Amino acid sequence: MKLLEYQAKEIFAQYGLPIQKGVVVSAAGGAEEKIRTAGLSFPAVLKAQVQIGGRGKAGGVKFADTVEEAVSLSKAMLGMDIRGLRANEILVLEKKDIDVEWYLSIMLDRYSKAPLLIFSPLGGMDIEETAKTSPDKIAKVPIDPLRGVQDYTIAYALDKTGADKRYAAPLKDIIEKLYRMFFDYYTMLVEINPLAIDPAGNLIALDGKVEVDDNALPYLPDIAACRDKLQEDPQVIEARKVNFLFIPVEETGDIAVMSNGSGMLMSCIDLITQKGMSIHAALDLGGGATADRIAEAVRIMLGRPRISIVFICIFGGITRCDEVAKGAVAAMQKPEAASKHLILRMEGTNKDEAARIVAASGLPITVAEGIPNSVEAICRIKNAG
Ligand code: GDP
Ligand code: MN
Repeated sequence: MKLLEYQAKEIFAQYGLPIQKGVVVSAAGGAEEKIRTAGLSFPAVLKAQVQIGGRGKAGGVKFADTVEEAVSLSKAMLGMDIRGLRANEILVLEKKDIDVEWYLSIMLDRYSKAPLLIFSPLGGMDIEETAKTSPDKIAKVPIDPLRGVQDYTIAYALDKTGADKRYAAPLKDIIEKLYRMFFDYYTMLVEINPLAIDPAGNLIALDGKVEVDDNALPYLPDIAACRDKLQEDPQVIEARKVNFLFIPVEETGDIAVMSNGSGMLMSCIDLITQKGMSIHAALDLGGGATADRIAEAVRIMLGRPRISIVFICIFGGITRCDEVAKGAVAAMQKPEAASKHLILRMEGTNKDEAARIVAASGLPITVAEGIPNSVEAICRIKNAG
């Protein structure tokens, strides 16, 4: 779950990370009053609160010299569209004078099996460009979880990128705080871009991005409460309500994959993608899905109009294949499934019974043996269509 900037900064504040003074205003009302009474000094910066980066380039970051200008800008910005997301809230901050913009983040790196520190003295809006044109200006340092952030971690990052070593101590302080937050909040990513340096030489977090592992939300009631303000995918929400994990994959894809386990889901996605086809979404059914739940899962999937082929891949242990077959048949009898294709691969408990149920239904459901054959069947349907 990606937090909005002001939600991220509320956590920054708890950890003593330096941030600007500011106020959040909302489309729900009272924006003008709030800006006027916040006691902010001017100029100010107004930022659209949407869960994507690159707001600056998309017109979502604007400056106001006076309180009047901030009020009128906030009115113009509330509700604005930033690359498909609506700005329901605007963060109004005291504008900082800055000399330099650095980039700093810690992410979970599955390759090094450790938190990975990423640092660059060429941060700000063009960090992606920096990564392409000056990779030597970006340091990536795995942090050994048993040792934590050490002086040499910082020394290496500054040395490799040619950044000013006089900032080693304050940078270490910030990285240590960010690192603690990274663990306490079960995050996948904490990012400060830009981490700016003001003319007095103080570091300050001008932006904040925090991505929390959804699986940790039961431990984090304060974060779970942030969810209400986020704009989430309707199918993700619908699926979550009934305990399915819906994963949007590629907007332009037209194939859906459903399975009872994330490992098999990923294998299926890999094999289909290898054949040059594109997955629109995946859904993890979890264990022991009944016919009703299978039918519900297919229904949720078909809420995405782009999907024309649904592939259900089941290893039947706790999940019984006959239940899967009944659910699949029920789902395919619905009018919304009329022009859709369903490929069913089932192995394990009551597999033969399942095949009989599908055959007896008379529906054009393809039952395939094994994943490679299923992928071939999907290929054939795509080539025919
Ligand atoms: P993003 O484009 O979504 O990453 O939004 P940011 O919050 O990072 O803002 C984009 C850019 O606006 C930054 O890289 C800065 O160059 C500039 N900016 C944002 N806030 C301030 C500020 O308080 N003072 C100054 N001088 N520039 C700012
Ligand atoms: Mn930024």
